[in-house]
Amino acid sequence: MIERVVYLSMHTSPLLQPGYGDAGGMNVYIDELSRTMAARGVEVDVFTRAHAEDLERVVEVGPGYRVHHVVAGPRAVIPVRQLARHVRPFADEVVASVLAESRKPDIVHSHYWLSGWAGLVVKRKMNVPLANSFHTLGRVKDLTRRHDEAPESLLRIAAEHEVIEGSDCVVASTPLEADDLMEHYGADPARLCTSPPGVDHDVFSPGSKSEARCRLGQDERPRVLFVGRIQPLKGIDVVIDALAEIRQSVPDVALTVIGGPSGPAGESEYTTSLQAIDAAGLGDAVTVLDPMPHADLADHYRAADVLVLPSRSESFGLVAAEAAACGLPVVAARVGGLIHVVDHPSTGLLVTGWDPVDHARAVVSLLCDPARRARMSRAAVEWSERFSWQQTAQRFLELYQGAVERAGSA
Ligand code: UDP
Repeated sequence: MIERVVYLSMHTSPLLQPGYGDAGGMNVYIDELSRTMAARGVEVDVFTRAHAEDLERVVEVGPGYRVHHVVAGPRAVIPVRQLARHVRPFADEVVASVLAESRKPDIVHSHYWLSGWAGLVVKRKMNVPLANSFHTLGRVKDLTRRHDEAPESLLRIAAEHEVIEGSDCVVASTPLEADDLMEHYGADPARLCTSPPGVDHDVFSPGSKSEARCRLGQDERPRVLFVGRIQPLKGIDVVIDALAEIRQSVPDVALTVIGGPSGPAGESEYTTSLQAIDAAGLGDAVTVLDPMPHADLADHYRAADVLVLPSRSESFGLVAAEAAACGLPVVAARVGGLIHVVDHPSTGLLVTGWDPVDHARAVVSLLCDPARRARMSRAAVEWSERFSWQQTAQRFLELYQGAVERAGSA
């Protein structure tokens, strides 16, 4: 039976507010999984790099769920591309800290390639099985990145190969990610498993649109919502260009953007986006809000008419699942995990490519058809039931058990 799990999340902490910097879906994933595991009686220790001076060494988030801040490199936020040299010290500290408590975990589950790399060291030194979730894959991001973005580093690609080769199991969020792992990295299918993340249905649930708008102080204009980190990958440029198109058919359309700059191009993307909104004369139609906790986000999903998500790459797309759980139809790019999260054309519409005109057309078709939106809304709520952290945790416990048994019999 699995009693103790160590999660490695070197480059970002589950305690951070998602929506800007390096904090996004992976942080939510680790936090939700840890809470759910702990509620089932599994002890969870998450190790993350100390990214500030004033962090407590260990934070007890709740019974059975602790976050450890490991000193490896400067106690400051540093770009992901500078973290590789701190992987080994991070891994050594994790091992020292775990051994100091003399309670070896049943399994280590690392997240993202940097932690996977650290995980290989931890696995070797402590002789424990290793599971790794990549969350995004360098080679896959490179396939659809915007023309002005730099490709992923060779170091990342090489490390991904090494982690895939050395892990006891590699976790994909969707069957498509599993295919990508095999096609682009030659992953061994026998060590691959697929487990979609979940949604907290206590937070993300349907509710009255007019009451949500009232709570948010929003008017009655048709409203499009974008939630995500501002970086080229997320396609905010497509959203803004599409809005100008949508205005041709729906002149009073409003757009809410929730998110902050993220990644090397985040700041310039954010500034360029604000300038583009002004230059297109869309200032009166757009509200840009800083990232906010899930409890506040839910009302934005309830208050909107359509969620737009023209991501250039997306390994899952939690935002699309959360919107569905709140009954909000989604217009998303036909890419990555979104193909599994949006049930086209029942819960939303998938658009091939990133031409703003195509995305605008799909949005307009929904804004102009309230009856269709209402049908989609009902279907989305039902569809979203398949995404549950309880099920994710259950699958992981089975997966961990299998890995432990295989490692024991090897
Ligand atoms: N998020 C949030 N507050 C915000 C913006 C985003 O809590 O203001 C959360 C969002 O609800 C979702 C996650 O950040 O749970 C983003 O995950 P997703 O898979 O959509 O994108 P990723 O960040 O992994 O690229």
